[in-house]
Amino acid sequence: MLRKEVMDAIKRYTDPFRVAHGENFRLNNFDPGDTLGLSMAKEEAAQLLKQGTEWLAMEQEMLYAQDSWSLLLVFQAMDAAGKDGTIKHVMSGVNPQGCDVFSFKQPSAEELSHDFMWRYATKVPPRGRIGIFNRSYYEEVLVVRVHQKLLEAQRIPAELVRPGIWNERLADIARFEDYIARQGVIILKFYLNLSYEEQKKRFLQRLDNPDKNWKFSAADVRERRYWNDYMQAYEEAIRATASKSAPWFIVPADHKWFTRLVVAAAIVEAVEKLELTYPKVSPEQMRDLAAAREELEQ
Ligand code: ATP
Ligand code: MG
Repeated sequence: MLRKEVMDAIKRYTDPFRVAHGENFRLNNFDPGDTLGLSMAKEEAAQLLKQGTEWLAMEQEMLYAQDSWSLLLVFQAMDAAGKDGTIKHVMSGVNPQGCDVFSFKQPSAEELSHDFMWRYATKVPPRGRIGIFNRSYYEEVLVVRVHQKLLEAQRIPAELVRPGIWNERLADIARFEDYIARQGVIILKFYLNLSYEEQKKRFLQRLDNPDKNWKFSAADVRERRYWNDYMQAYEEAIRATASKSAPWFIVPADHKWFTRLVVAAAIVEAVEKLELTYPKVSPEQMRDLAAAREELEQ
């Protein structure tokens, strides 16, 4: 158990960015450059993050031993918002055997032959494990909504492709999350909130720095034309799917050190609430252990 002061400190990082009720959600109310007035030295931020990841590594072992709850972390963002780096840093201490990262790209021919949730549903983490979705079923109401050609590729019967289809999908997603939450999946959703200007800066860095050239994609730059459409799609998605059992975190993403702290804090907070302990050994199991010791010593 973390001390109350620690939990209070963690809440200071998470409360301002948590959206658990979507009705009045407006993306504009969140500042991508926010650091809560904090200007931490790189060292200090790294130290704090390290403490969080070490704690998480310990808890993950208990999660695994308990074999009951699981944790699903969903990451969504515009390009260059830092999804990959955030995942890498926040999960750095966790035993790779208890954690799976899935990166969802354009669907394959086989995936397109199924209902849209099919490929994601099979990757929901089993009991005791942490699953990370680097992009997720939310793409089905984001990129697919912005580029409706992608919807054609899904070959849904024409009479089911009606104006309400996006609201229907959002409702389906919210239901799906309710369902897995009731099965014991703790769901946390992170929108890394990057500004239009900072994205430009990061793309230019990819062009300027030879070590970052490989990350540059002309297609990503073209996608900037649709920025406003994406923002609208994100806003509607978050509004329709933020809930107590599957909250969104609108994480400021213009300062990477701060993004990582907020994400780590949200995970620590959610896992701490589970009050995990190692499973208790029953008197019967104790007798078995004693017998095993005797056998070993003979
Ligand atoms: P990075 O660029 O940091 O490597 P990424 O997540 O952007 O990571 P990419 O391979 O660049 O990975 O892009 C994946 C692309 O797949 C994105 O443009 C995304 O919008 C697209 N995509 C993901 N899911 C779907 C989907 N269901 N339908 C159509 N396109 C999708
Ligand atoms: Mg990309």
